[in-house]
Amino acid sequence: MRAIVKTAPGEGHLELLEWREPSPEPDQVKIQIAGVGICGTDIHIVRGNWRCDPPVVLGHEWCGVVAEVGSQVRGFREGDRVVASNPARTCGACFHCVTGNPFMCAHRVSAGYMIDGAFADFLCIDYKRCHHLPDHVSFRTAALGEPLSVAVHAAIERTTVRAGDLVLVSGPGCIGLLTAQVAKLQGAKVVLSGLNRDQRRLECGKALGVDLVVNAEQEDLVELVHDLSGGSGADIVYECAGSPASLETCWKAVRKEGTLAPLGVQSGPILTDINAVMMKELSVVGSYGYVWTSWQRAIRLMAEGLVRADALISHELPLESFAEGFRLTQDGSAIKVVLNPLLPADAGNAVTANNGVNLHA
Ligand SMILES: [Zn+2]
Ligand SMILES: [Zn+2]
Repeated sequence: MRAIVKTAPGEGHLELLEWREPSPEPDQVKIQIAGVGICGTDIHIVRGNWRCDPPVVLGHEWCGVVAEVGSQVRGFREGDRVVASNPARTCGACFHCVTGNPFMCAHRVSAGYMIDGAFADFLCIDYKRCHHLPDHVSFRTAALGEPLSVAVHAAIERTTVRAGDLVLVSGPGCIGLLTAQVAKLQGAKVVLSGLNRDQRRLECGKALGVDLVVNAEQEDLVELVHDLSGGSGADIVYECAGSPASLETCWKAVRKEGTLAPLGVQSGPILTDINAVMMKELSVVGSYGYVWTSWQRAIRLMAEGLVRADALISHELPLESFAEGFRLTQDGSAIKVVLNPLLPADAGNAVTANNGVNLHA
């Protein structure tokens, strides 16, 4: 089969290769991949600043059709449309595994950087990580089930948005745009901020119903948030850009006794004023992956059209166009790129409009 493989550590080393086709263990399903998102984490991996065990097939945001089932699989059969999640393997016995947060397992092995992932024709995964996909949710949309689960975990399960809250989402990437939508659904007034290069993403946020989009290079974001809140600051701030400057702004924008949730991946350790946490009595809430319920909610939100994950997808490309997909993601000209191994090699971008809401003209 074809696969996009990170062949060596360090920067670059990403190739489309002929790769061994996996066959399912007794408790695994083999999925024919029909959509897999290129994530900011993939960019970190290709730059060499995220854990990765090469040679390894990248891709951790996938969906597809069950092509084969192992002998012990229950509830799934050949032909089922599914989304599936990481971790690929855990110990199954530690505190985190037993209490339902396998992402925290010290023995977690994730597909897409530690073992082979989904930038390929096929992937095998534990059937207990699979969820049935409603017929009317397209594969293109379902490829965003993973980042939407991350947003749901952050904005519903790890933090509590209350109706009437003022929420700042700093960084209008995929996670930011999804987190903003989830916060909005819970009744918050949502401010989404970005930089000059994020113009297209900010426009997408506006089209998706965010209350206010702000270019932080042209406006004083902190002052604006303080004005909107009568001087106190935002109730909850989600840092989704993964930059020190964005985090700095978030510290200043969150109100005393408010909540700050860092969701963006920083390139390395950063210095920050921990006194602000103490003196403002802040809650700093980490949110990393997702749990079972995050996926159940995410699938319902997509199925009922409450979150427009599809509107973020600017490009759907064949596997052969992976380099273009990575370039578009890296330079910010795409909002979200989904690779579809079922598209012919010479297919161009399959996205022309998003369900009548043409956000990417
Ligand atoms: Zn991701
Ligand atoms: Zn465990």
